Amino acid sequence: MAKILITSGPTRQYLDPVRYISNASSGRMGAALATAALQLGHEVVIVSGPVPTVYPAAAQVIPVVTTDEMLAASQEWFARCDGAIGAAAPCDYMPKIVETQKIAKTGGPLTLQLIETPDVVATLGQTKRDDQWVVGFALETNDRRFRATVKLEKKHCDMIISNGPIAMDSDVNDVELLDTAGEVIARVEGTKQKVADVLMTEIDRRLIHKTPATPL
Ligand code: C5P
Repeated sequence: MAKILITSGPTRQYLDPVRYISNASSGRMGAALATAALQLGHEVVIVSGPVPTVYPAAAQVIPVVTTDEMLAASQEWFARCDGAIGAAAPCDYMPKIVETQKIAKTGGPLTLQLIETPDVVATLGQTKRDDQWVVGFALETNDRRFRATVKLEKKHCDMIISNGPIAMDSDVNDVELLDTAGEVIARVEGTKQKVADVLMTEIDRRLIHKTPATPL
């Protein structure tokens, strides 16, 4: 049995006390992966941004709001886990200045200066112990396989799941699972639960039980 950290859902970056930038991630892929992992007998910790999705009761859920909070919680919990799956869509940018009072309309345009937030999966990938593994997702509209392989290397992942925009706020997905050599080791489309079941079976076999890979 392994202890698995799953990041899930979007994060929010506030501009002022009431407005924020975010994205449409629903947390459904994270929930489906958690269900699949629990069914295989693993222990699951989910670090999740604000989502309407209900996670399986047997998973431990750590709620966060911002990308910095997601990073801090993930680092803390990853230290006690065997591996991590980055299913979250953390907000990549945050306002350079967060106003303490609601920004008033002036009748003119508002210019925001945005700075990059930390990359949670890349940080976990860089700092993982030899006995730990990290699996990331790459959502791409074009050159999917190539871009996913570049991200896998850049973020020090042990596997990466390539998917397309169909994944966002949807019940279905269409993915390829790539190994560190860039080989496609699984291809699956259908409901997020079906996709998660196949992905978790492969993660269980290749990263948890370390059965040698055989490309498709
Ligand atoms: O670079 P991109 O956002 O496409 O990378 C996707 C992968 O990186 C996903 O696994 C996602 O959870 C993770 N990620 C992250 N922190 C960010 C941005 C992306 O963990 N700030």
